[in-house]
Amino acid sequence: AHSANQISAGEVVERPASVVKELVENSLDAGANHIDITVEGNGVPLIRVRDDGNGIGSEDLPLAVIRHATSKITQIEDLDQLRTLGFRGEALPSIASVSKLEISSRPADQPAGLSLTLNAGEQEEMKEIGCPAGTCVTVRDLFFNTPARLKFLKSTPTEFGLISDTVGRIALAHPDIAFSLTHPHQVVLQTSGRGDLREAIAAVLGHAIARQLIPVNVHHEKWHLQGFISPPSLVRSSRQAQYFMINGRIIRSPLLSRALAEGYHTLIPAKLHPIAVLHLSVPPSDYDVNVHPTKMDVRFKEEQELTLFIREAVYNTLIKSKPLPSI
Ligand code: ADP
Ligand code: MG
Repeated sequence: AHSANQISAGEVVERPASVVKELVENSLDAGANHIDITVEGNGVPLIRVRDDGNGIGSEDLPLAVIRHATSKITQIEDLDQLRTLGFRGEALPSIASVSKLEISSRPADQPAGLSLTLNAGEQEEMKEIGCPAGTCVTVRDLFFNTPARLKFLKSTPTEFGLISDTVGRIALAHPDIAFSLTHPHQVVLQTSGRGDLREAIAAVLGHAIARQLIPVNVHHEKWHLQGFISPPSLVRSSRQAQYFMINGRIIRSPLLSRALAEGYHTLIPAKLHPIAVLHLSVPPSDYDVNVHPTKMDVRFKEEQELTLFIREAVYNTLIKSKPLPSI
């Protein structure tokens, strides 16, 4: 059973940032309003995610770390049906199989919480504890029993950079949830959870950038594009600072990147890239989604029309925006 978990771990848990992503998505699925993430070093010594979500009942806690013990749906036809982010019941057992994991949890209506510790997926201890309502997962010594994985990891700045990028992306997709990332004694990222996207952008990309961004809010029959884009004077040499969400979910989409670039055509050199945080609302029937443990790819049915919509929305927004007062 453990070897199956370790094989699957290779798919789900590529590196510390993937652990953070899976744990935070579980907190989101649990309806958390506050999600606090603590990381030590490159994430190998310690990753801790604490939330104030629904918690896990004491009967269910031992099951949560067993393969395919998902409490969520097992089949999806489209993103709309995928109400929850996780759906495979693989993340926790996979992470547990390659680390020393502690999970403690208490649903608000239970007087006491339960804490469970595992070593390489083997249950070590289970005890009642006092804890705030919600769930706290601590992952220590990640990949201690899979030396090949450990060797493949990059430097601490690179691995931690990937972690903070992951948290930043998720925070921008959920401005209504308060996130913090601590490394290890310094808060490196913190959002208020007040639901203001520009405020979340300020927390993730900095106030200087957030202040200069131009709001986008364009409807077209069934599509709605909303968010912020940078003025042509504010560009980057990579697409790193481009964030796309479809119906609230983080996606990768070369099509959206291209459509965004086309909206800026003539306004900025082709090698430079605008900053963008864009939420696109589309009817779920307008796209197919291919969900891989580590990413989400979307295929739109009306590619050309959508490209045109995004391009025009971006271009028109830029043209109409007043030049900014110099800061
Ligand atoms: P999945 O998210 O695909 O269901 P996971 O392995 O990530 O599978 O988690 C297993 C189960 O553990 C979840 O279905 C959920 O019931 C429970 N769980 C995990 N993390 C949390 C959390 N932070 N809060 C509440 N329940 C959780
Ligand atoms: Mg999950």
